[in-house]
Amino acid sequence: MTTRPEIKSPPFPADTVAIAGAETGVLRIDLDALVNNWRALARRVALAECGAVVKADAYGLGVARVVPALAAAGCQTFFVATPREAGEVRALDGRARIFVLDGLFPGAADDILAAAAIPCLASLAEVEDWAAHARRIGARLACALHVDSGLHRLGLPLDEVRRLAARPALLESLDVVLVMSHLAAADDPADPANAAQLAAFTQLRRLLPGAPASLAASDGLMLGPDFHFDLVRPGYALYGGQAFRGARAPVSPVVSLYARVLQVRDVEPGGAVGYSASWRAPRASRIATLAVGYADGLGRAASAPTGAPGGSVIIHGARLPIVGRVSMDLITVDVTDCPVPVARGDVAEVIGPTLTLEAAGADARTIGYEVLTRLGRRMPRVYVGGSA
Ligand SMILES: *Cc1c(COP(=O)(O)O)cnc(C)c1O
Repeated sequence: MTTRPEIKSPPFPADTVAIAGAETGVLRIDLDALVNNWRALARRVALAECGAVVKADAYGLGVARVVPALAAAGCQTFFVATPREAGEVRALDGRARIFVLDGLFPGAADDILAAAAIPCLASLAEVEDWAAHARRIGARLACALHVDSGLHRLGLPLDEVRRLAARPALLESLDVVLVMSHLAAADDPADPANAAQLAAFTQLRRLLPGAPASLAASDGLMLGPDFHFDLVRPGYALYGGQAFRGARAPVSPVVSLYARVLQVRDVEPGGAVGYSASWRAPRASRIATLAVGYADGLGRAASAPTGAPGGSVIIHGARLPIVGRVSMDLITVDVTDCPVPVARGDVAEVIGPTLTLEAAGADARTIGYEVLTRLGRRMPRVYVGGSA
């Protein structure tokens, strides 16, 4: 490395982070930032309702803290993936509307009813199944109809929508509260699939009973008002993600992961670092060993064999490269060029305001979504802010 890493003027935030003696680091989750993000997205969609996607344990951040914080801010509609997740959210919020995105699994109707949740019915078979349950219990049951506008993943395709439209009796026992679809390429505003899916969704809706509509997730809502309809369903952006390539979403980071420096050592030119000696020092080097590894969610793909780029961390404000293999509990970082000498007890930012979810994702050859949902359980979690 020839260029000296840039350093931010002290104090760098990580330098003020306290890590408990028995712990390797800390995962900080800022509930005020989360709530501000939800409010900013809600303002962005103006007349449409802004829900919140809290599937997969609120993208790994913990539904038990995320749902009450958002509900206190006024969020009334939550989306989960599975019936079990719906039960978890219901236990936290007795009044919320809860949609189950994965739809109606065979045998899951009682769980969905117990959670007073709304399945996003995604095939004619699911519609028939839910209608049979409505007849069984003698009540109209709320549902969303998930139509396929081109993602070809879940949702009623055009021919099933036509068959459903030809059988109005099937929908008599159901209360269709939402017609929804999902975009395939909303992160790229230049992708023609967006306009094609918008047109397909509009056409599919015309075949179905009039009901509020939802098409956009985090990126879709950035595509503009044509995509907002009645309800938007952001997930990633609430948690500070910036996946949209057209502009910055009006959100700030929610998650920071800090890890401690355990040791710093000198390695001679040619000295091998880490498992399988995948990296050898090209010069006399200072190598810091940090207490964070793939068990904490850092992708092993962030490993950096000799000559290949890998991940990085921030120490004293300087971005410094991971060298050698990421192991379960440890990483090794080349701190030779850090303008402030690195020492035992220093704290590194692994994810945070400087090393964003997108940067951490790119470093690990993946996306910020996967970084979030893979955060490990070993680091203590500190929630800051929130009304609860
Ligand atoms: C996960 C998901 C969302 C939320 O997507 P983000 O990109 O995280 O905003 C919305 N709708 C559906 C159908 C989903 O599966």
